[in-house]
Amino acid sequence: MSVPTKRRTSSQHKRRASHFALKKAVFSECAKCSARVLAHRICPECGEYKKQAKSGESKKA
Ligand SMILES: [Zn+2]
Repeated sequence: MSVPTKRRTSSQHKRRASHFALKKAVFSECAKCSARVLAHRICPECGEYKKQAKSGESKKA
């Protein structure tokens, strides 16, 4: 096990931690049922994604 060779100052910790904040989730509206849907995800209500096939029956060959 290695040990840190030098002490990190509080400002060094804070500078690193400045990138830890989470971004707000981006919502869009489902084209079929107009429910609030996370961007780039299928609709949890009807399974629609960009007017394509539903969640279960996609991907063949
Ligand atoms: Zn929908």
